[in-house]
Amino acid sequence: MRFSPYPWSEKDMIGGNAALDFVNTAADWASGDPEDRLGGPEGFGKWAEMAGLLYADDMKRLREEIAADPKAGEDAFETAIRLRAALWRIFNAVITDAEVDEDDLAFLDACKVRAANHCRLARDGDGFRRRCAEEAPALERALRLIVEAAEDFLLNGRLDRLHACGGDACEWLFVDTSKNGKRRWCDMATCGNDAKVKKFRKRNKKAA
Ligand SMILES: [Zn+2]
Repeated sequence: MRFSPYPWSEKDMIGGNAALDFVNTAADWASGDPEDRLGGPEGFGKWAEMAGLLYADDMKRLREEIAADPKAGEDAFETAIRLRAALWRIFNAVITDAEVDEDDLAFLDACKVRAANHCRLARDGDGFRRRCAEEAPALERALRLIVEAAEDFLLNGRLDRLHACGGDACEWLFVDTSKNGKRRWCDMATCGNDAKVKKFRKRNKKAA
């Protein structure tokens, strides 16, 4: 897997779901050798903070956790990368109306079990809820939220509104929540604007 650094910011979270945004942290999927834009456990943590899955003060803890147990950090990152590829194949199958690989669904299930191991039942006001244990490592908490977002989207989301951006070499995934369901671009300011400029140039060329 090739690594290419990327300056993640909140405005890159265009998927409408954390699992879709997570798939968008790799590019060039169709080549079979996607380009990774996270680079390692810390890069994954930084992205998770931008995606709102971790708090800013989690980053200090994450660095301490990686320093104390680098292997655990690498393991969480490798699982995340495997999950990302499985999710891309599942979402791509939804978009192209193809068969979903059972192994990918089984891996998503396995990640759910892994996440559950870090969770505890806790009193919450008048009721109860399941939440990540205080001692759960930061990357495991981020992974859990991605797994839950993926499952929530597959079970309850608008699968018919799942699209890949039509921009040149973009392919970022998003759920189209627009009223008319005609959103074609990940972001009007980037891919949408490129397309507008190209259309304008083409028209002017014809007129010239
Ligand atoms: Zn795009």
